[in-house]
Amino acid sequence: MKIEHIGIAVKDIEQSDKLFKILFNKSAYKMEEVESEGVKTSFFMLGESKIELLQATNPNSAIAKFIDKKGEGIHHIAFEVEDIEAEIERLSKEGFKLIHNIPKLGADNKRIAFLHPKSTNGVLVELCQEIVQ
Ligand code: ZN
Repeated sequence: MKIEHIGIAVKDIEQSDKLFKILFNKSAYKMEEVESEGVKTSFFMLGESKIELLQATNPNSAIAKFIDKKGEGIHHIAFEVEDIEAEIERLSKEGFKLIHNIPKLGADNKRIAFLHPKSTNGVLVELCQEIVQ
């Protein structure tokens, strides 16, 4: 439907939060820790899309491994979908490798699933669907 957010891996979210606040000239609207993922996140709203800053909270976190290998920078692009199960099924049938075949809970009130970057030209793609309460 649209680019929901772009995820940026950072070493120190407090510091990056200040930096991006100056860059965007607005504050993050939300900071949230996702314990299951070992990340602290911070979200900035920019028009229709968001920027998500991610800092690892433990060395086994995917973000810690990413920063070890590649350093700080763009980590993933998240696309909003209407029906995440249907998209997972459609993309699997098209031959894409999914990291998650079953959606899981992500930050910012979302159900999410990642595609394997090997099947998407090296881009880590996140599908996300807003949880309607
Ligand atoms: Zn994300």
